[in-house]
Amino acid sequence: MDVVIVGDGPGGLSAALFLAKAGLQVTVYGQDKTAMHWALLRNYLGIAEIHGSEFQKRARAQVESFGARLVDARVESVEKAGDGFRVTLEGGEAVTARFLVLSEGKSPRLADQLGLARAENGAVVTDIHARTSLAGVYAVGRLARPDRSQAIISAGDGASAAIDIISTVRGGPYTDWDSPPENG
Ligand SMILES: Cc1cc2nc3c(=O)[nH]c(=O)nc-3n(C[C@H](O)[C@H](O)[C@H](O)COP(=O)(O)OP(=O)(O)OC[C@H]3O[C@@H](n4cnc5c(N)ncnc54)[C@H](O)[C@@H]3O)c2cc1C
Repeated sequence: MDVVIVGDGPGGLSAALFLAKAGLQVTVYGQDKTAMHWALLRNYLGIAEIHGSEFQKRARAQVESFGARLVDARVESVEKAGDGFRVTLEGGEAVTARFLVLSEGKSPRLADQLGLARAENGAVVTDIHARTSLAGVYAVGRLARPDRSQAIISAGDGASAAIDIISTVRGGPYTDWDSPPENG
């Protein structure tokens, strides 16, 4: 596996979209318990108004259409293993991945298991590409910005983490640009 994503809110799903679209093997673990189910979005650029549950439904279908796996499971633990990470699910099944994207939302339980640096307000410390203090681990969305919880910011963080991972794997800067056919 190339990438494991923990959390299936807008942060995790956005990372999965970019990664799967670029052809990486990606699995998202989550149980569709995101805060989005309580939201009525009227501040997501390009969408006038949408119920958070409908947004999630469309996002999940979009991500799966590019080949990402969405697995209904809770991750119990994460640890460093060789060049990557071992991810153990509730029930004991374990998988390994080269990169880990944490989008745990408001509870940084796995981030703490890995000993990631945290700021005074509890945020997992990241750089502009969502990289944490541990190489290969990214933190996105509410986890990295507990005082700035907005769907579009989480989605942007997820995209940023994914593009950094793809650039690392491909050995150079990556952009995901598509053009309409009439533009050649
Ligand atoms: C009442 C309400 C109204 C809101 N209205 C708006 C609005 O109008 N506009 C707006 O922009 N935002 C709104 N929000 C905020 C918005 O919902 C959040 O900003 C957004 O959900 C954050 O996305 P995220 O991906 O960072 O985290 P989350 O959506 O919190 O997703 C984290 C996911 O990770 C899962 N998870 C955590 N740990 C594990 C684990 N160990 N294994 C597997 N899964 C795990 C959680 O169950 C959850 O599904 C609202 C929130 C609420 C509560």
